[in-house]
Amino acid sequence: MKHNFNAGPCVLPKQAIEATIEAIRDFDNTGIGLLEISHRTPGWERVMAETEQLWRDLLNIPDEYAVLFLGGGASTQFFTVAANLLGKKAAYLETGAWAKKAVKEAKLYGEVEVVASSADKNYSYIPKGYKIPTDADYFHFTANNTIYGTEIKTDMDCPINLVADMSSDIMSRPVDVKKYALIYGGAQKNVGPAGVTFVIVRKDVLGKVERAIPTMVDYRTHIGKEPKNNSMFNTPPVFAIFVMHETLKWLKSIGGVAAMNKINNQKADLLYGEIERNKMFVGTAAKEDRSIMNVCFVMADQYKDKEADFMEFAKKAGMVGIKGHRSVGGFRASLYNACPLESVQALVDCMREFEKLNA
Ligand SMILES: *Cc1c(COP(=O)(O)O)cnc(C)c1O
Repeated sequence: MKHNFNAGPCVLPKQAIEATIEAIRDFDNTGIGLLEISHRTPGWERVMAETEQLWRDLLNIPDEYAVLFLGGGASTQFFTVAANLLGKKAAYLETGAWAKKAVKEAKLYGEVEVVASSADKNYSYIPKGYKIPTDADYFHFTANNTIYGTEIKTDMDCPINLVADMSSDIMSRPVDVKKYALIYGGAQKNVGPAGVTFVIVRKDVLGKVERAIPTMVDYRTHIGKEPKNNSMFNTPPVFAIFVMHETLKWLKSIGGVAAMNKINNQKADLLYGEIERNKMFVGTAAKEDRSIMNVCFVMADQYKDKEADFMEFAKKAGMVGIKGHRSVGGFRASLYNACPLESVQALVDCMREFEKLNA
């Protein structure tokens, strides 16, 4: 048995995989597979509408927000957000490599004020006490720093339009969408496979900048007027959206984001508890900012030479994807929604066993 801790793409609910396999063979009893139908068939239009409704139900998204499913990944949103919202100046919080990339792209469209950075300690904490400039068009932050294992777990109050990259923690907890002007992310961490990007945007923030925006980059294209485009201005990524549809159905069936958050906290507490107890390992993120999605840890100083041994030991026990990102080193276990508690328990057992044999 394998325990999948990959950082993304990553583990998905079994049910979602099974339903997708079936749909690839025969979509919606049409006798034709999901990958071979027209996206204009009524069955597909129903999947699109249902997927949007699942998002609205699960996150309580009000009517004044559009929910879009686009291509290009979160990385494409780094410049798309700025192209649509940055008139003169934007403010960014720099909490890691993804935030830095978002800053770089925004600079192509105007002035960017980085209000604070945690680069001084290799992004191992979330900066606090910074001031958000009220003359900026929006404030952008990365909700969960996938690489460094830090997370902003509450919805902040912001005097200007708030924009969040929630690629790696969307649907891991209830979110007060009304506090945001825009939320975006790649699906491949918590809500589906690679290939689809979600954007939740309050429609009244659009159309305020004066620049010409390429058709595909302009959010209004994908929203559409009457008749609405509903993310079907061009061919949507049907395969990825279908898997997302099934993944969200699973999430709803287990009780939605509030129930999911309880389980996620349980998983994170279990692993962080073991890291604190076990003398061979230490966590890398500041305790108050620790992510419930990505748990980063390294060997304690006196056991540094055991890193490769533990990697091998864990691999033999079925652990997959626990190698830390090269910029942090050590280990990273990603505990996304579909990662079961049993897998986290198996990793903890493995760390205990390793300590018994080596400490
Ligand atoms: C993975 C990730 C990205 C990049 O997503 P792509 O879809 O690969 O472009 C951006 N931001 C965060 C927080 C991520 O975890």
